[in-house]
Amino acid sequence: RLHNLVQELKGNIRVFCRVRPLLAAEKEKQKGMEHLHFPPQDNKTLVLLREEESHIGRERKEDLKYDFSFDRVFRPSASQEEVFEDISLLVQSALDGYHVCIFAYGQTGSGKTYTMEGPDALDPERRGMIPRAVRQVFQGAQELAEKGWQYRFSASFLEIYNESLRDLLGARPECGELEIRRVSSASEELHVPNLRRVPVASEDEVLRLLQTATANRSVARTALNDHSSRSHSIFQLRIDGTNTARELRCSSVLSLVDLAGSERLDKSQSQGKRLRETQSINTSLSSLGLVIMALAKKEPHIPYRNSKLTYLLQNSLGGNAKMLMFVNISPLEENFSESLNSLRFASKVN
Ligand code: ADP
Ligand code: MG
Repeated sequence: RLHNLVQELKGNIRVFCRVRPLLAAEKEKQKGMEHLHFPPQDNKTLVLLREEESHIGRERKEDLKYDFSFDRVFRPSASQEEVFEDISLLVQSALDGYHVCIFAYGQTGSGKTYTMEGPDALDPERRGMIPRAVRQVFQGAQELAEKGWQYRFSASFLEIYNESLRDLLGARPECGELEIRRVSSASEELHVPNLRRVPVASEDEVLRLLQTATANRSVARTALNDHSSRSHSIFQLRIDGTNTARELRCSSVLSLVDLAGSERLDKSQSQGKRLRETQSINTSLSSLGLVIMALAKKEPHIPYRNSKLTYLLQNSLGGNAKMLMFVNISPLEENFSESLNSLRFASKVN
């Protein structure tokens, strides 16, 4: 298929940039988005503009221009449906046995959770990539049944906070930390003993699990202020297909990851718990970047082991895996330097 051909030529990593719209309350303090420029008839470029004091002349101001290009740039007006259209073939390929990993990267408030989950999974227009991907997979499986394929699915949902794993589907989420282990000493394959993997057979069943995960996460949110933006949440759908007539099998994992906020906290101000959070987020996000770059360059050694996030995803990131990273951008001018940081990170992995 054309899609697969294009991917082979380009490598298996793509980056999509999405700029969210200004929220009603934000329109009061910021009228337009003059610092963001979307060249007309070009859906791959985003330009950041800033007027800065020149270092040369005292009175002179200098226009600084930062150009970024990605596989796709979505403007604030892009609907969830439009965004999903561009990832649906990628999602579909999970049924063909490819591991698929989709990340949302960006500072807190840039639209990661909106993109991945949406404000409401039941709202047909605004539901995010996770519920759409789940629907697509179940529909695709039904179509492939006519060609003799039978599928089994199971779902898990966990979060990584301060380098420890927590099951978001466990009956008692407080019952502690999970470990990542090798399936056997002879195998490179990893698993998480005690992580709940729930067999699922329909979209509705998965949606119910997503609600459980959300509820479990909000329990923690009251205890730890703003916990969700400080943790990575990882939804995984395991897909096992068999075609008895043709004696074929395939299995893959579709992973959808809402990463912790990428903002840099002022180091001098963060202490204790906050400092530890910041350090573990920095470690895992930079390890993710390094792993993706090493994969893109086809380096012999991929440094998966440097963080729980990359270690957990080791099996789904290498080999025949297909990866997509959303870099979510806030339209607020006050977030200019965070936006610049995010775009630079995303350009490096692209
Ligand atoms: P993050 O998960 O990166 O912290 P959120 O997804 O929570 O950010 O988004 C921050 C706010 O912006 C939320 O109120 C969310 O509903 C809103 N928002 C984000 N993206 C969009 C979008 N594309 N369209 C409309 N509102 C959005
Ligand atoms: Mg969020």
